[in-house]
Amino acid sequence: MTKRILIANRGEIASRIAKACRELEYTSVGLWTESEPHAKHLEFCDEWLFCPGETNKETYLNIDGLVKLAVDNKIDGVHPGYGFLSENTDFAAALEKAGIIFIGPNSNAVRLMGDKAISKTLAEKNNIPVVPGSTGAVATVEEAQKIAEEIEYPVLLKAVAGGGGRGLRPCFDKDELAANFEVVQREALSAFGNPDLLVEKFIQNPRHIEVQILADKKGNVFHFFERECSVQRRHQKIIEEAPSPFIGDDEALRKDLCETAVRLAKSVDYDSAGTVEFIMGDDKKFYFLEMNTRIQVEHPITEEITGIDLIVCMIQAAFGDDLGIPSQDWITRSGHAIECRICAEDPITMLPAPGKVTGFETNFPQGTRFDNCIYKGLEVTPDFDPMVGKLVTKGLKRGVALRKMKAALNGLFVEGLKTNIPLHKVILENEKFKSGNYSTNFIKEENPQGEINIEFDHLRFYKMLATIEARRMGF
Ligand code: ADP
Ligand code: ADP
Ligand code: MG
Repeated sequence: MTKRILIANRGEIASRIAKACRELEYTSVGLWTESEPHAKHLEFCDEWLFCPGETNKETYLNIDGLVKLAVDNKIDGVHPGYGFLSENTDFAAALEKAGIIFIGPNSNAVRLMGDKAISKTLAEKNNIPVVPGSTGAVATVEEAQKIAEEIEYPVLLKAVAGGGGRGLRPCFDKDELAANFEVVQREALSAFGNPDLLVEKFIQNPRHIEVQILADKKGNVFHFFERECSVQRRHQKIIEEAPSPFIGDDEALRKDLCETAVRLAKSVDYDSAGTVEFIMGDDKKFYFLEMNTRIQVEHPITEEITGIDLIVCMIQAAFGDDLGIPSQDWITRSGHAIECRICAEDPITMLPAPGKVTGFETNFPQGTRFDNCIYKGLEVTPDFDPMVGKLVTKGLKRGVALRKMKAALNGLFVEGLKTNIPLHKVILENEKFKSGNYSTNFIKEENPQGEINIEFDHLRFYKMLATIEARRMGF
């Protein structure tokens, strides 16, 4: 029987979810708001619902409003995407009370993993290595300093409820810790509604490597290998690749990492798509960071190397359906995939740069995937995440995936909006990046933004656009 799925999100992920619904022959219901009446995701949805309100708080974060919309419109399940209410247990509980399926994990798993202090304690209990630091939240500066002396500086202050790279602050000595403590507490309270902080060792030269999990309601928990996400600015990923070039062909390490992630997921009876994040030192020792109990931005690269549709499976899992996966060994990977997050930001300062798209053309190499929400007329405002698309390429070897990515970036024309496309281009040419042996300090150490040549990019851009224009005019 067909089901009605409400997509409680916007942007590229809303289109992605609508495509999965179409494949399952479920009716996708998209939301439109006053501020985005022409949002691109609506093109992919079977039905549209008006979501009243001007701010995110009144629309995509409005639990009562969204649940009422779902009830009034006979919705069977709600997919929250990422961000917004995707990791909100109140939303999941309110839907459950209304007899509507939350397309995500059970609320207990979200609660346990939503707090970085609780999840770390839980990981430790399951003999999973965690970054040395406080057990639970620290209440005072003195307590934080005492732990910092024990584990030795530098340390990282981290909001237990944080996310999206926010609520983190490294401290290199006692005074810096004292100066930062209240600042981060205040930031955490205003951004996440919870001022609690934990303190942990600030690992030098780490890699961010994470494992994709998919579980059903029958107790099956599978992993879909790892992703390398160490190219970051402000603790936020901008390029991801799968598999991790740092793990390379060390299959024993890969197995250990992936099985550790499965063990953690099993300990909270996980039953959906999720990601277990780790940091790995130069010595290949890894430590649990956090678990994201939702679909992640960078899920496409895993789909590309394993051939599995994670969103389709996530919907099936939520309704208690069979995933059709006979065993872990049945899941295999081939080749290499890479993703560049296309953000409306200044490529040099890497700060958000709102604006309006006045032109959009693509001229991609074979096999390019571009999950995006761009159209001529799109206005990127400070209210929304500046990410407007995800460019994904793959090849049987890493070098081929990188070559295709370079060509794809050269064939992506966004006019009127400042984007980080020029930054991606220079990163792709960077020797350290090409070697595959890079840490989360990559941007800081290599300063790729210093090599951006906007004039050259513009020249190539307009030459290609002129060719496209000429073709359209029949020359
Ligand atoms: P991912 O973890 O999927 O790789 P991000 O960390 O960039 O990607 O998060 C995806 C989106 O979710 C971003 O828009 C980010 O701002 C938002 N987000 C993640 N965690 C939280 C949180 N705890 N509170 C608010 N927004 C969050
Ligand atoms: P978020 O919820 O914001 O994603 P994470 O705990 O996943 O928070 O950390 C985000 C990023 O910050 C990581 O990908 C990593 O680059 C960096 N980071 C987090 N913890 C540490 C640490 N203990 N040492 C060094 N870097 C860290
Ligand atoms: Mg994280």
